[in-house]
Parts: sequence; structure tokens; C-alpha cells
Amino acid sequence: MVELFYSLLDQTREFQRVAKPPASSVGQFLRMELGRRVASWTDGPETQQLKLAILSNLLHVECCVSGTHSMDLVALTAFGEYTVLPGLDCTLPGGYQGLTDRLAASLPEDTLVLNKPVKSIRWKGTFEDAGSPGDTFPVLVECEDGDCFPAHHVLVTVPLGFLKERLDSFFDPPLPREKAEAVQRMGFGTNNKIFLAFEEPFWEPGCRHIQVVWEDASPLRDPEPAPTHDTWARKLIGFWVLPASGSAHVLCGFIAGQESEFMETLLDEEVLQTLTRVLREVTGNPQLPAPRRVLRSRWHSAPYTRGSYSYVAVGSSGDDIDLLAQPLPTDGEDPQVLFAGEATHRTFYSTTHGALLSGWREADRLAALWDAQTAGSAEMAVAPTREVETVPLTQ
Ligand SMILES: Cc1cc2nc3c(=O)[nH]c(=O)nc-3n(C[C@H](O)[C@H](O)[C@H](O)COP(=O)(O)OP(=O)(O)OC[C@H]3O[C@@H](n4cnc5c(N)ncnc54)[C@H](O)[C@@H]3O)c2cc1C
Repeated sequence: MVELFYSLLDQTREFQRVAKPPASSVGQFLRMELGRRVASWTDGPETQQLKLAILSNLLHVECCVSGTHSMDLVALTAFGEYTVLPGLDCTLPGGYQGLTDRLAASLPEDTLVLNKPVKSIRWKGTFEDAGSPGDTFPVLVECEDGDCFPAHHVLVTVPLGFLKERLDSFFDPPLPREKAEAVQRMGFGTNNKIFLAFEEPFWEPGCRHIQVVWEDASPLRDPEPAPTHDTWARKLIGFWVLPASGSAHVLCGFIAGQESEFMETLLDEEVLQTLTRVLREVTGNPQLPAPRRVLRSRWHSAPYTRGSYSYVAVGSSGDDIDLLAQPLPTDGEDPQVLFAGEATHRTFYSTTHGALLSGWREADRLAALWDAQTAGSAEMAVAPTREVETVPLTQ
């Protein structure tokens, strides 16, 4: 089933330049192709149902990878533009914080201000700074605590989820219509991790992954109704066994979509009880000890994130990613508001490397601008000297 699913998923990447694709979404295409394959299956009904259940799990895995509620929301024609970075997954010591700490360490002291939410970005203005009398700046960053920072340029890297929610109030003047529409069209969903810590591992030594398959599930059935206390956990794809650390034996579960957002609204206690029930069911051991602790992300409820990462939604395309990445103003003036972050990288969207590369892209843009301006003013400074020098020769 794994081979079948991933061979079909590979096919979904082949519609990039196809004028009339066979379906609008990745989910629709997969269901269509699976339906055709299932029609030729000759196994008994029980085996067929088990195969469908496994395929349903794999579809939910793909929802986690794409950070979407359903693959029916993910555009088929753009899917092939996403590029997997070659190489192995790497786990950074101390988590991702280690990466940003390392990057920040190379900056001069006192150049970073943290825990300072921005309320709005005013651009196309003429703002003064008490610290540089006589100078004016086209941009003003206003923080929620009332502090203001005038600037020549602002690089905006807020998540697309935040941008979608604050589209009407975050920019003054508002974003141009085409950019605002691109933001609305682009997809941004939820994928959460749920960590469960156990006193003792109940899994076999060497076990790296526990896949949760619901025997009555099928990718061919109509979409699941809205999640409830009893049903949300059916979207959980399974658990990865994390390397043991001291006395901690930890499983990490992944869950995407509306079920993930529903899970965020529950108390830790309920999540722990529900997942204990799930694990008892899948292991067939009603006495399985409950985890001693649960820890989970809540990316959808987080006010400065409002979801996990972006995907190219039906009705959107890679052009929207490029539109979002375009600096403002677009009339050839010096860039005032620039955009980076994972949602602005056309082929590596949804990833850390996409975010990093997009930041470098915009840093290069500004460096090139300032290099050109510095070279220009150096030339202007040199030019009169040359003129003065040439005067005696022409006399
Ligand atoms: C469960 C999960 C698993 C993942 N696994 C992987 C993986 O294996 N590999 C991989 O490459 N990527 C992975 N990612 C994706 C990766 O984490 C993101 O793509 C990456 O963090 C995006 O970086 P970013 O800088 O664009 O946005 P973010 O990391 O979201 O940073 C945006 C920042 O802006 C801040 N902000 C928002 N609003 C404001 C405001 N008004 N004022 C000031 N600050 C504000 C936010 O607080 C946040 O710190 C995963 C993500 C999730 C959720």
C-alpha cells in the first residue's frame, strides 16, 4: 500500500504545466486514481477494507506534511513545484532555538529586540526619529506597547496565518489589492506535535514508529464531519519514538487539520486520556499504563502564528508566493516593506530552509541596494574632484 500511495503521490507532481489537469486538488486526483485501482482488487472484503484503512492513514500523513486539513484543499497543478531538499533530516542540539541563537550570536550587541509584538507598519510616510534629527524615514513600525521604530526598510517575516488574520489592520496604507488577494488565496493550515512521556517504554527495543490505522477508515469515503471529543484522535497519524533521554521515554504524535485545532481547545488531561485510550486500543492491552505527562504545540491558537505553515491551495499558485515576496512599493522606488519567511519561497515553502533562504534573499536585495547607493554617492563625491583636476588641462 505504501508503494501504491507514494507512486500515485509522485504522479501528482506531474501537472505543473498541464492546461487541463484531471482534477483541481491533490486529494481529488488521489481518490480518483485509488478508486480505479480498488475496482481491480481481487482480495476479500476484509483485506480490501484493511488496505483502504492503511491508505487513509497515508493520506492523513500527507495532510501533516502539507500542513492542511485535507489534501482536497491542496492545488494539483502547483504541487510539483515544491522541492524536497536532498539529504537527511537533521535534529539540532537544543532544538531550532539553537539555530536562531547561533545566527543571533553573530550580530552586534543590542541590535535585537525580542518579545515586542508589532501592531502595525506604516509605510510611504515621512517619519522622524528623535535620535537622528533632520533625517526622515519612509517607514514606521508601531509596537503593541506603544514604542515606535522609524526605518528606511522593514523586513516582514510574520507567518501567513497572522498576515491573513490582520490583513486589514497590519499595514497602513493597506497592502495593494493583488498582494492582499494572494494572501487570502494562499493556504495555511495546522499541524501539531503531541509528546507523551512514559515511565517505561511499552514498545519493542528498536521500534521507531507506531502507525495508527483505523480499520473502518477509507480515503474514498466523504470527508469526515466536524471533529468531536470522540472523533478528533482518528486524524492522529501515529507516533515517532524519540531517542531515550535519561528516564524519559517519549512518543511524539502528529495531527493535522481541524481535528488538530479541536485538540488545541482541550485540557491536557483530556488529551492524555483520549490518547491512552487510543494506545490501549491499538496495542490490544487495556492495562497499558497511561503516560505520565503530555506536552503539545497549539499553533492554531497561538496569536502570532495562527497555524503551522503554508501550502498552495486550490485557486492559488506559485505566482501568489512570488507576489507575496515582492517588496513594496512596486513602482520602482526603493523598497520600504520587504517580505520573507517560509510562505515567500516558491519551492521550499513550509520549511525552515525556505524561511532561511528567503531571509538571505531579502538581505541580498538590501545589500545590493545600499552597495549601489554607496557606489553612486562615492562616484558623486569623486566626480567634482576629477572636474576640478581637468579644469587646468582645458584652459
Ligand atoms: C509540527 C511542525 C513540524 C515541522 N517540521 C519541519 C521540518 O521537519 N523541517 C522543516 O524544514 N520545517 C519544519 N516545520 C516548519 C518550520 O518550522 C517553518 O517553516 C519555519 O519555522 C518558518 O519560519 P518563518 O521564519 O517563516 O516563520 P516562524 O518560524 O513562524 O516565525 C515567525 C515569527 O514572527 C513572529 N511574529 C508574528 N507576528 C508578530 C508580530 N506582530 N510582531 C512581532 N513578531 C511577530 C512569531 O512570533 C514568530 O516568532 C515544521 C513546523 C511545524 C509546526
